[in-house]
Amino acid sequence: MNAGATTVIVGASVAGIRAAAALRHNDPHRRIVLVDGEDEDPYDKPPLSKAVLSNTDLPSPTLTDHIGHGIDYLRGTQAVAVDPAASTLTLGDGSVIRYDSAILATGSAPRHLPQLAGIPGVHYLRTLAEATALRNDLRRRPRVVVIGGGFIGSEVASSARELGLDVTIIEAGPRIAARVLPEPVSHALAALHAQHGVSVRCGTAVHGASYDADRRAVELNLDDGDTIVGDVVVVGIGTTPCTDWAADSSLPIRDGFVCGPDLRVKGTSNLHAIGDVARWFNPRYGEEMRVEHWTNAREHAGIAAHNIGHPHSPRHAATVPFLWSDQHGTRIQHVGDPNLTAVDVDAVHLSHSARVFTYSRDGITVGATAFNAQGALAKIRKQLVDQRAAVLHADHIYH
Ligand SMILES: Cc1cc2nc3c(=O)[nH]c(=O)nc-3n(C[C@H](O)[C@H](O)[C@H](O)COP(=O)(O)OP(=O)(O)OC[C@H]3O[C@@H](n4cnc5c(N)ncnc54)[C@H](O)[C@@H]3O)c2cc1C
Repeated sequence: MNAGATTVIVGASVAGIRAAAALRHNDPHRRIVLVDGEDEDPYDKPPLSKAVLSNTDLPSPTLTDHIGHGIDYLRGTQAVAVDPAASTLTLGDGSVIRYDSAILATGSAPRHLPQLAGIPGVHYLRTLAEATALRNDLRRRPRVVVIGGGFIGSEVASSARELGLDVTIIEAGPRIAARVLPEPVSHALAALHAQHGVSVRCGTAVHGASYDADRRAVELNLDDGDTIVGDVVVVGIGTTPCTDWAADSSLPIRDGFVCGPDLRVKGTSNLHAIGDVARWFNPRYGEEMRVEHWTNAREHAGIAAHNIGHPHSPRHAATVPFLWSDQHGTRIQHVGDPNLTAVDVDAVHLSHSARVFTYSRDGITVGATAFNAQGALAKIRKQLVDQRAAVLHADHIYH
């Protein structure tokens, strides 16, 4: 163990907090400094598009239980530069922290629609402050237009319907959640929205917008020549990894910090990147990937913490991506190969509301999506995790 060494962690959301907790658990003597630009107690993001919007009482989605234990938490403190050669992190106030090891866990931020810049009533959703602002606007009982039919857009639509609001999703692609789900499952999700009164319009994009101050409404001009009016507009068109602050660092950045299988940033000996901001080589799939799901951030945190304490016997992030989502009272879970092109899809209905879609390639199961079927999904997930473990153990090329 590296007693008394300093580890600095940039980003105090699920990845950063869980890494701090694991480091402390593994080594009671390590100095751990956790830095986050937001001036909040650490909190978890999944409730922001769900209970925080639809419940009358604001739950507190905090991660604070994991801090304390001698972890120095610098809130409201932006990291503005990292120097891998000198092993230093520079903060917004000009102060410099020297580290023995560092973890970059700066996550991702919503992509903005330039056509909507400066228009009142337009919301993006990533932070607790943004969720609180949206929640307050939804209380005015507005017509809601959600731009983007991914998971976050769909969850906002579902929460707004729970509040009894009029909701339309505008999706530029031919179907919703197309980045993650095969076609039949996208259609099943669209049918779920339709059953619960959400209007879903695919294949048309927003190309312009104006604000009517008298009516306090946003008029959106669509590619198909139509216009749609929303009192509240929520944009959920994907995210970009938060790497800009380290742009001058000489670190490899390509849609995320580029890492090897052990999550070490390439070309460095003591810097790891984890969670949404990490583009790493996943040996299970033999390719680089960046995954924006909560479980990925948590799994990365444990692996990076282990590897900092055990640099000579590192673990590799041969993880199987997994996500969950709650929409219209349905628990949706998805697991497996992030690339689901050219898969065979089988659907099994377990009951009126429970079904499982499994995906296979050459007869081998590579992934699954479940609607209200957590037990069945857990079995498939275990099977996928175990599936290639033997191959990975036998294969020493990454060790
Ligand atoms: C509304 C919403 C709902 C979601 N729901 C689900 C769900 O149901 N299921 C699921 O699997 N996933 C869900 N996700 C995704 C999941 O929350 C993310 O994958 C997870 O939060 C990633 O964690 P992270 O720690 O890597 O990054 P983030 O959560 O993005 O945190 C990064 C942190 O770094 C800080 N930071 C950034 N730059 C700097 C800097 N320069 N200096 C200091 N601090 C900095 C930020 O302030 C932030 O606190 C949801 C995400 C959102 C936004």
